[in-house]
Amino acid sequence: MATNNTKIAIIGSGFIGISTAYYLCLKYNLSNVFLIDIGNPMSFTSSQSGENYRNWWPHPSMVDLMNRSIDLLENLVEITGNRKNISRRGYVLSTRENNIRDLIDQLRFGLGSKSSSLIRYHKKFNKNNYVANSNYDFLDKPDGVDVLQDQKLIQTNFPSFSKDIKTILHIRKGGQINSQQIAEFMMNFCKSNGHERIKGEVKSINLTDHYTLQLQTESGMQSICVDKIVNAAGPYSDKVAEMLDIKLPIFNILQQKIAFPDHLKAIPRDMPFSIDLDKQSIDWSSDEKEIILTDPDLCFLAKQLPGAVHCRPEGEGDSQWLKLGWAYSTEKMNISRKPELHKYFPEIVLRGAAQLNPALKKYYGKLPKNFVHYGGWYTMTNENWPLIGPMVKEGAFVNSAFSGFGTMAACAAGELCAAWVTESTLPKYANNFSLNRYKNSSLMKTLNKINRGIL
Ligand SMILES: Cc1cc2nc3c(=O)[nH]c(=O)nc-3n(C[C@H](O)[C@H](O)[C@H](O)COP(=O)(O)OP(=O)(O)OC[C@H]3O[C@@H](n4cnc5c(N)ncnc54)[C@H](O)[C@@H]3O)c2cc1C
Repeated sequence: MATNNTKIAIIGSGFIGISTAYYLCLKYNLSNVFLIDIGNPMSFTSSQSGENYRNWWPHPSMVDLMNRSIDLLENLVEITGNRKNISRRGYVLSTRENNIRDLIDQLRFGLGSKSSSLIRYHKKFNKNNYVANSNYDFLDKPDGVDVLQDQKLIQTNFPSFSKDIKTILHIRKGGQINSQQIAEFMMNFCKSNGHERIKGEVKSINLTDHYTLQLQTESGMQSICVDKIVNAAGPYSDKVAEMLDIKLPIFNILQQKIAFPDHLKAIPRDMPFSIDLDKQSIDWSSDEKEIILTDPDLCFLAKQLPGAVHCRPEGEGDSQWLKLGWAYSTEKMNISRKPELHKYFPEIVLRGAAQLNPALKKYYGKLPKNFVHYGGWYTMTNENWPLIGPMVKEGAFVNSAFSGFGTMAACAAGELCAAWVTESTLPKYANNFSLNRYKNSSLMKTLNKINRGIL
């Protein structure tokens, strides 16, 4: 049990650590909480997020977790009066395939028993039947999935898309949020309820009848004794676990994005977050291809690349910015606080994204000078599910491995971790997201078979 005297240290003040602190305070009134970080809150992986959210996942437990998280997120946006900072245009998945049986099966499996009422088919043009973007206010709360298989309907609603797109799946419970603002609200709430923020790096953890953390702070070494710890150290969670001789089944992969002002107006400003699901070969010129093929580090670019390159307009009003991303990398890497970005990534992602939105070709070889290239670590398990719950030793918990979905999952993850820490009633998906899932061979067998939902 945790009482108000229970001292809890949360290691990491990214969105996951902050959300855990918030729900410990909000739901269980715990005020003896220390939020520890080497840097400023929300300044590491959480600052790199594209801030997109969706409830499209290939397993019902992930759908339940995300639905819960999105409801909590949207509720927080309402409480904080930040409705301008959220839009719910959805996710648009596009493919050149007519036969989408596998995709529909995945959707049905994820949505579970309600799937028949949540999937709507539009096979004939009818402008009243399907509205892509009538209103971006999330209070409209469109839900479910619209499946479009009529060329005229697709081109009318998505005029920038390549003419060979045959099917669109429009996931309606999805959009963008401003996580920095929500995190700030959570931290202010925690602070006014007595939580303490400590700037320092946890160097070691010693377990006796309590946990003693050694911290490197600006004024030297400091130690702090607590009853419980939460490992929310993001890409460093495995290192923090090792301080207690615990091995977590996680690894890190570098993923990158670019952003640039679309002054040539290639993309309509009301286009939702759009994903090209199809594998593709990039349309390099023959000269470019020759150079690529002679470089062993680049020759993979001349082969077929995975699908899921994505594009979305960033910002409302007069904003011209676009964001492009493509999580094609699978290389497990040793991490650093400043990841080394791949210098060709901007041109690669631009060319990949131009397959769905051909007007982007105008930027080939001439991205605006002020484009931004950034990236961070996807901290992952093999099955791409997070780890939320007890961390082997009594009183130790982990809340980590949020890959490319930590922003959207943060609220439900914080709430779930707080329930584990306080030994409160757990939701039915709890064990699936803890280390306990590795004992569930039938679940692990399913997870090894299904799509991992990496974007
Ligand atoms: C390029 C990119 C795009 C993404 N886009 C999306 C998106 O569109 N939607 C979405 O939902 N998710 C997205 N994500 C994923 C999301 O950003 C992450 O899952 C989330 O930010 C992880 O949060 P975190 O709190 O676990 O980690 P972090 O934000 O990394 O926080 C961990 C903190 O722990 C601290 N720490 C580590 N070790 C120690 C130590 N020893 N002592 C003290 N402090 C320590 C670090 O300084 C850090 O601040 C994206 C990620 C990347 C990289």
